[in-house]
Amino acid sequence: MKFVRFQTYSKIRYGILEGEDVFEISDNFLRDNFKKLNSRFDLADIKLLSPVEPSKIIGIGLNYAEHIEELKFKKPETPVMFLKPSTTVISHLDYIVYPKRISKRVDYEGELAVVIGKRAKNVKIDEAGNFIFGYTIINDVTARDLQSSDSQWTRAKGFDTFAPIGPLIETDLEPTNLNIKTLLNGEIKQNSNTSNMIFNVYELVSFISQTMTLLPGDVIATGTPKGVGAIDIGDEIEIEIENIGKLKNSVR
Ligand code: MG
Repeated sequence: MKFVRFQTYSKIRYGILEGEDVFEISDNFLRDNFKKLNSRFDLADIKLLSPVEPSKIIGIGLNYAEHIEELKFKKPETPVMFLKPSTTVISHLDYIVYPKRISKRVDYEGELAVVIGKRAKNVKIDEAGNFIFGYTIINDVTARDLQSSDSQWTRAKGFDTFAPIGPLIETDLEPTNLNIKTLLNGEIKQNSNTSNMIFNVYELVSFISQTMTLLPGDVIATGTPKGVGAIDIGDEIEIEIENIGKLKNSVR
């Protein structure tokens, strides 16, 4: 099923997307007891919001071998984890704000995002799927110059608007073999498949849950394939993942 969070006038609603129709539901889809309501909206008439409001975004660095080569890092023994604050989150079609005074090099990073459905702590790899609600798309926007100059990545990854998420959550998806593409102003820059991940989605959920409790709505950015590159003001970035959809944002 495809779930969306959306706005009409000033009201925030949740819904199920079927084709171009959005059927409203009574509550956040992350709670079990929602019901389908009688209201229906046209997808064209609503503003899609980030489908989740995560308490934290756990980023995974260096999870595709060819991306590690292009950054000239070493292949990690265990997943490299970092956090993006909740204030980085923006929605499909919202603007990424370029922090011109502080950074001279900002990059897109197209990634598959895991949305946690159930509180998860010390989860085993073969049980990790039970704690996943579904999958969406994230752009792990990164100030690359600050990633190099700072020994920690918090500043490089943590600017407001540096985590576009959406446009929807797909719950029926096999995450280990999905084509993933990033287009910059219509030109393909990243073109890979989630089968190229070093640590798969289930290994990541298990690994992270050994350190911190994952809460419903938390998001894991699973790492970016090769082909990262700079964005500038006025650029348009689209990330497309098979069977999920397209996340589009511009820079200002
Ligand atoms: Mg990344």
